[in-house]
Amino acid sequence: MDQALTPSPSFPSRLPKVGTTVFTVMSALAAKHQAINLGQGFPDFPCNRELIAAVNTAMLADHNQYPPMVGVAELRYGISEKIASLYRHHYNPESEITITAGGTQGIMTAILSCVGPGDEVIIIEPAYDSYRPSIELAGGKTIAVSLTANRDEQGHVQSYSIPWDALSNAVNVKTRLIIINTPHNPTGMVWQAADLDRLAKLANDTNALILSDEVYEHMIYDGRQHQSISSHPGLAARSFLISSFGKTYHVTGWKVGYVAAPAALTTEFRKVHQFNVFTVNTPMQYGLANYLQEAAHYLELPSFYQQKRDYFRAGLEGTKFKLLPTPGTYFQCVDYTNLNIPQAQLNEADFCTWLTTEVGVAAIPISAFYNEPVQSGVIRFCFAKKEQTLSNALTRLQQI
Ligand code: PMP
Repeated sequence: MDQALTPSPSFPSRLPKVGTTVFTVMSALAAKHQAINLGQGFPDFPCNRELIAAVNTAMLADHNQYPPMVGVAELRYGISEKIASLYRHHYNPESEITITAGGTQGIMTAILSCVGPGDEVIIIEPAYDSYRPSIELAGGKTIAVSLTANRDEQGHVQSYSIPWDALSNAVNVKTRLIIINTPHNPTGMVWQAADLDRLAKLANDTNALILSDEVYEHMIYDGRQHQSISSHPGLAARSFLISSFGKTYHVTGWKVGYVAAPAALTTEFRKVHQFNVFTVNTPMQYGLANYLQEAAHYLELPSFYQQKRDYFRAGLEGTKFKLLPTPGTYFQCVDYTNLNIPQAQLNEADFCTWLTTEVGVAAIPISAFYNEPVQSGVIRFCFAKKEQTLSNALTRLQQI
């Protein structure tokens, strides 16, 4: 009998609302129309050859079997030293740092390790798209509050700020976890030291844990310092800190990151981790451990990306796009509703489709980062690109 004619048994979807992400859709559309892809967040330039050589060396040294479940010791010790030197908090590399298959696995595993049915998890929208499905798979309930959009007299979004009242209203005895993200994808907003103090006050007297997504920790500009959750003693005691080498070293395809958290949290995290991925590929870990020893490799990142940000912003200055501030990340948000064309009236998703197919530059609608799409007239460009790519994109955008 023809196997293909036998229908599969049906079963209820665990994630009925999840479809193909807008990043995949926009990248496919960009490829189809030969548009310049400033949509999905990944560099179009190569990583440092030294890093590749370090991984090659590890492979040739036969580091090709399972590493320890929690990650290669050299890498965990290196991360511990790095965090101590940058953020003045010591994580024990034996009991408090775990290597993950990228930030996304760290986020999912952290959520699965502490969230159960009936638990509430607070997220701040616009939010990275993995948070909500991870919470749902854990059986938790997502409580979304929105960043405050600050507008000028014409109604154009000028900047975003933390919605403190909504956050404090959302916290209650069922709150198991609060997820924050700084520097923030997609808005580029960064948290200040005073914001962490305020969060600490909010979390005080509750049992809420915090997941701090800091994968853009080294993309912070104009002399600002990244305010890591680990730098705040009160918060560090209740937090999972997430980071990703993909962002820091221009190797998003390698999917290696880490989670640092107090021993009690890490113990639970590792219980899930060992059956989720068990281990993360060995030669990459040795290579990264080696490369991490040279602090310049991450210390030079703010000026490297600030140059790209400034170049891209300068090119947009003469256009009718309204630039939002970009204190961090490699994303530039713009308000397009001021453009003198009929398309300025389109919703964000339709505007991005038009921009990709007709202008030849792909961008991501901010509405895609909300569960119930709100239309703010703001879209996101990624400037982690070669200057030539940015220059080509600017030429097209300047013609609108
Ligand atoms: N968090 C945020 C806010 C991100 O933008 C990303 C990557 N797009 C991640 C986490 C995941 O990082 P990774 O690619 O290492 O899984």
